[in-house]
Amino acid sequence: MREDKTILVTKFGGAALKELENFSRVAEIVLSRKKEFDVVVVVISAMWKMTDQLTELAKKVSKSPPKREQDMLLTVGERISMSLLAMVIEDMGERAASFTGSQAGIITNCEHSDASIIDVRPHRLIPHLDGSKFVVVAGFQGVSQKGDITTLGRGGSDTTAVALATALNAKKVEFYKDVDGVYEKDPKYCPEARHIPRLSYEEAISIIESAEKKLLHPRALKMAKDNAIPLEIISFNKSQIKSIIVSEEISRPSKPIFEVDTLVSKG
Ligand code: ASP
Ligand code: MG
Repeated sequence: MREDKTILVTKFGGAALKELENFSRVAEIVLSRKKEFDVVVVVISAMWKMTDQLTELAKKVSKSPPKREQDMLLTVGERISMSLLAMVIEDMGERAASFTGSQAGIITNCEHSDASIIDVRPHRLIPHLDGSKFVVVAGFQGVSQKGDITTLGRGGSDTTAVALATALNAKKVEFYKDVDGVYEKDPKYCPEARHIPRLSYEEAISIIESAEKKLLHPRALKMAKDNAIPLEIISFNKSQIKSIIVSEEISRPSKPIFEVDTLVSKG
């Protein structure tokens, strides 16, 4: 897809969006990546704590919120972020357009609140990927085969980023985080822990799975490994510090591998 263009997917989580002012830092980073790539796609999460606040809001009106309605509500957080970021980018004199997960073609099964990705059909994004515009996609959400809005489970925006990179045949995904990359052990509890500048998918999986605070969602990591998508974890504030997750010996499969096969899914 768009083989003539080099595509980068960047992902910003809620920790990078604690304050409204953070949107300009996100926009600056995104704009700067155009020096190296023809097309920059942004996957964005809800602002810090917003998903928790929306969950609490549902509990205020319902003892047991129906999962379909809860998903509809929670996806609002990412919609706020995506539209605000597109506005900030436009304000900086560049062009941007935001898309929901459904508009971006993230097709899932019907498991509300923990949906798995069956396919990514980004045909609505394609006309915007000529390099003239920054495309901003809401993470964490998709649309079921029945047409209902679904969410991918907490922390699911990481999975959206890797799924889109897979579908668009992007060069890599850059995750901008409030940490300096991957450490052998959590540096918060173990200050002498060694920073690892480069590691394989297997090494990343074993470190991240055993960590209490997951640096990346394990589902995203698995999808990256299955599709040989290189990942970079970059410090939001000091972008020269990072960890690269890649395995040179794996090549991209001819057909993208998502999470569930249409034939076996309940969707
Ligand atoms: N906003 C969702 C959450 O807080 C998804 C994400 O951040 O990846 O879990
Ligand atoms: Mg989050």
